[in-house]
Amino acid sequence: MFIDSHVNLHGEQFAEDLEDVIQRARDAGVQRMITICCQLSDFEAVSAIADAHEDIYCTIGAHPHHAKDRPDIPVEELVKIAQHPKVVGIGETGLDFHYGYSPRDEQYRSLRTHIEAARRTDLPLILHTRDADNEMADLLEEEMGKGAFRPLLHCYTGGADLARRGAKLGAFFAASGIITFKKAEDVRAVFRDCVPDDKVIVETDCPYLAPVPHRGRRCEPAFLPDVAQGLASVKGWDIETCAHRTTENFFALFDRVSRPQ
Ligand SMILES: [Zn+2]
Repeated sequence: MFIDSHVNLHGEQFAEDLEDVIQRARDAGVQRMITICCQLSDFEAVSAIADAHEDIYCTIGAHPHHAKDRPDIPVEELVKIAQHPKVVGIGETGLDFHYGYSPRDEQYRSLRTHIEAARRTDLPLILHTRDADNEMADLLEEEMGKGAFRPLLHCYTGGADLARRGAKLGAFFAASGIITFKKAEDVRAVFRDCVPDDKVIVETDCPYLAPVPHRGRRCEPAFLPDVAQGLASVKGWDIETCAHRTTENFFALFDRVSRPQ
């Protein structure tokens, strides 16, 4: 069994053949998926997919690219939406100083609100970080000091320092298709040396980041075993061990997701 902890199924890339995409994932052994809310205005479309499929769950949040839409959203609003029965995480949120589509202060305000929502709901917090390793580590340490929450550094491509500081705080890390890319030796080294075996999970982040040997194509959750194979090689595990460990780790973090019978 594999679990795809991060898919983006509501976009136009899947509008034509969503049901086929979901069936191919099931046929590939993917038994649970979390479809991610990146923009508050998308929640209805995202949660509708989760509502329509027993094996798909969802989140509520605003990606740093969209933090500018509502940087001052009240925490109560996020907490209220999170009561939806298929919502199993807060995010994705985070810091992206690479593109900088939202001003930095608005990214910070939005992120801190998401952290507080994660504390109040005790749901995992899905974090995106790009070109902001030190800022993210500083903020997580500061916020953890104010009250515990459960971070997941999704699609992890950051450096060793953020990985070590995050691991100290009990953070989880998700490997994406990037771990299979020829040029990603530095990412593999961080997963090998800094990410604890009991804190690692997998994701496709589809429709983006198709793993080898599908590069250049639309990514879909059926490609998850290729991501898992990449992680297995890095960790020195066989594929069954990788599937088992990442599945157990997933359910330890996402404890609102039901286990398949
Ligand atoms: Zn992301």
